[in-house]
Amino acid sequence: MLISRHLISPTDFTVEEIERIFTLADQIIQSPKQYSKICEGKILATMFFEPSTRTRLSFEAAMSRLGGSTLGFADPASSSITKGESLADTIRMISSYADIAVMRHPVEGAPKAASHYSAIPVINAGDGGHQHPTQTLTDLYTIRAQKGRLNNLTIGLCGDLKNGRTVHSLIEALSRYKQIQLYLISPTELRVPGYVWEKLRTEPNILFEEVTSLDECIQHLDILYMTRIQRERFSSEEEYYQLKDSYILDREKMQQAKKDMIVLHPLPRINEITCEVDSDPRACYFLQAQYGMYVRMALIVSFLGVLNGQSEPSAIKQMAMPKSDRKYEDVFCPNKHCITKREPNLPSRMFLTGNSQQFFKCEYCDIEIKKEKLLKLR
Ligand code: ASP
Ligand code: ASP
Repeated sequence: MLISRHLISPTDFTVEEIERIFTLADQIIQSPKQYSKICEGKILATMFFEPSTRTRLSFEAAMSRLGGSTLGFADPASSSITKGESLADTIRMISSYADIAVMRHPVEGAPKAASHYSAIPVINAGDGGHQHPTQTLTDLYTIRAQKGRLNNLTIGLCGDLKNGRTVHSLIEALSRYKQIQLYLISPTELRVPGYVWEKLRTEPNILFEEVTSLDECIQHLDILYMTRIQRERFSSEEEYYQLKDSYILDREKMQQAKKDMIVLHPLPRINEITCEVDSDPRACYFLQAQYGMYVRMALIVSFLGVLNGQSEPSAIKQMAMPKSDRKYEDVFCPNKHCITKREPNLPSRMFLTGNSQQFFKCEYCDIEIKKEKLLKLR
């Protein structure tokens, strides 16, 4: 059902497609045996250009529980990247060997760029501080399972909202549900980035408030989504040490919360939730990690089209070439964390956006910049 598609951003699937993936995840949880050989003979490639344990293991476990196999690398030092190979060529090679690829990369927009050259579905498993859509599917599935709904929710997002890619993806995904009220709880230094704020500001389905204190709003929340301060994205250790203990959820704070509020966390946790909270029935983060594997199983099954009656794609794949359909190929993205800064051969993909087309937006990293400002930078 999702053949020839990719999952790069959390809104690449429609709300209905997401619901179908969740229904499939429900079925896999209910009868795992029925799905235990469904991906026999299929190969999932894991391309981890940035270290990860849980996301990679979650995908590997998902594929082996479906009867398929995995190959790949967990460390860029062991790939040809160190020899200077381009991202485009790496994904072309992987496309020849595997049926589906999962990519994590420290640079924003890398999976998007790879998808243009890939003959197989590419799943973004986290690109720098930008997006992490499979975590979002996991988060939504957990909310749906625990709360029974994805509409009409008051959610607190707490911690490093600037660098936390799971938060950016979750906000984007939530914008498609109704009556969502968000409390964005962070130190002023770690507020959501401009493109996320802009999205929130123009989004009719979401009401939001930025606050610095968790105590101020915890009593209103149906869901508290805690995140770790993303040490690896700070330019100095000093700055990290100043902010690292900004929020600590402990038993005392939990007493102020509703009896049915749930606590989520994408993990790994550092010290932002004390261990004493783990035994509180409202703590759902380990359950969330478990659900993550089943959601990924449903995703792989959907991408590979292996459910009964779906036709198999040809064994010899057509190599993809990026189409040059942009008018602004001589306008370049100014974001120093964008993949276009690392891969000189990638075509620029800036397009105009905003009510009166007053912004340029980069298709890879989503950064938005005023048209005149960017033209002056040229
Ligand atoms: N970055 C974290 C880790 O390495 C979590 C993840 O992989 O999603 O464990
Ligand atoms: N595991 C999540 C990620 O990879 C959250 C985190 O690392 O803090 O983004």
